[in-house]
Amino acid sequence: MRKLIYLLAFVPIFCFSQINGKQHEQLILRGATIINSTGAPPLGPVDIVIEKNIITKIQNVGYPGVPINENRRPKLSKNGVEINCEGSYILPGFIDTHGHIGGRSQGANPEYVFKLWMSHGITTIREPGGSLSHDLKLELKNSSEKNTIVAPRIIAFSTFSSRIKSPDEARDWVKDNAKKGSDGIKFFGAPPDVMQAAIEENKKLGLRSTAHHAQLNVVKWNVLNSARAGLNSMEHWYGLPEALFSDRIIQNYPANYNYQNEQHRFEEAGKLWKQAAKPYSEHWNNVMNELISLDFTISPTLNIYEASRDLHRARRAEWHDDYTLPSLWGFYAPSRISHGSYWHYWGTEQEIAWKENYRLWMTFLNEFKNRGGRVTTGSDSGYIYQLYGFAFVRELELLREAGFHPLEIIQSATLNGAEVLGLDHLIGSIELGKLADLIVIEENPLENLKVLYGTGAIKLDTNNNVTRVGGVKYTIKDGIVYDAKKLLKEVKAMVDLAKKEAGYKIKQPGIN
Ligand SMILES: [Zn+2]
Repeated sequence: MRKLIYLLAFVPIFCFSQINGKQHEQLILRGATIINSTGAPPLGPVDIVIEKNIITKIQNVGYPGVPINENRRPKLSKNGVEINCEGSYILPGFIDTHGHIGGRSQGANPEYVFKLWMSHGITTIREPGGSLSHDLKLELKNSSEKNTIVAPRIIAFSTFSSRIKSPDEARDWVKDNAKKGSDGIKFFGAPPDVMQAAIEENKKLGLRSTAHHAQLNVVKWNVLNSARAGLNSMEHWYGLPEALFSDRIIQNYPANYNYQNEQHRFEEAGKLWKQAAKPYSEHWNNVMNELISLDFTISPTLNIYEASRDLHRARRAEWHDDYTLPSLWGFYAPSRISHGSYWHYWGTEQEIAWKENYRLWMTFLNEFKNRGGRVTTGSDSGYIYQLYGFAFVRELELLREAGFHPLEIIQSATLNGAEVLGLDHLIGSIELGKLADLIVIEENPLENLKVLYGTGAIKLDTNNNVTRVGGVKYTIKDGIVYDAKKLLKEVKAMVDLAKKEAGYKIKQPGIN
């Protein structure tokens, strides 16, 4: 009988799973193991009750390896819908703290980007400013809030204007930005008095802030200056080695360096961590401890530099074949103009330097986390062969390489992101009263993070057949269930169509 109920329950799920999908008066996810992201270990089987978009009950219904105690199960209401999740894992929806909604040069439209994100369980993104107009960004944010489009929640930051010359101008700009409905500011650096005024004013208004400390301004203002002024978080890693310098004040640029030449920029960046104070030295410890005491957050975006240490791997990732748009593939090709396409002559020497750069960077990140510092998960996809959604999972794997425990990684990808956005009372963990932003997956991501890739993980089954397992099954946002695999199929259809229209075949650089 229960089987029949489940069968019936599945029918409406597939109907409701797409655009204009709806919240249910009651939705029960039955029998899963949950990873709730509070730091608790996995626990199951549990039934999760969702009313509209709120988690209202998390009921323990038994023990592993024992039939579920039906008496303990929450009752299905008259208009309720249930999904059998036995054998599955449920985690909070992922939060990508560095998510550009496509870009003009990349030719990636919002629908394509959103579906790649949602198919990978990403239910919230922080848009750090990009090529979208402010109005379009807010329109997308509102549509996502109303769930009239398939899209993650959008936390819309604005890029701080590079034209501002004085503290007064900075304060005016910040007030205006708040008035326009922005959620925060992303800085690239500015003169110190301007940075100080803008960060202070923004904080006074209750908005959030982050920065990519670009090399052009980093000598006078590094991450430590930002943290002391009240900046919430930093992107990538620039400005951190500079705060850690103990035997220089300016990066060791070669005489022929030109910032506008991206091979120079990225090649020399790969030698930067080596110029910082040694791990666990007094200065290294002091900087780390001060950043933590200031409640400063790091959004490292490890994945976006991975091609620097292994161009072949990033370029040949299997998902490019089916899910990378021709326009995006063209953007990634070696170019003196496209941002992040710095493969003018990228070889063994550059990759080896970057491997060492990663080692030092990861050592800092892991220890920062161990001492209580907050690290979030951001992807910065759409550049450097990193594809939306897939790159977020790669970021998780790189945090693992840095030394994070898989449970610490899930927390970084969910609750930590919610905290830095000031949304941890609403999202980021599976707790009573929080919004129902959830991921259902049939494999255990703690055992193998690769199961989170849309293309799944490779596994030899008991009959010695090569199979794929995993890929998110359902992404639930605001209590609305989306069939994640169907969303990914829709992305493939978009890519197929774009290729057909252009007669395009993905080719490797320099090979005709
Ligand atoms: Zn970015």
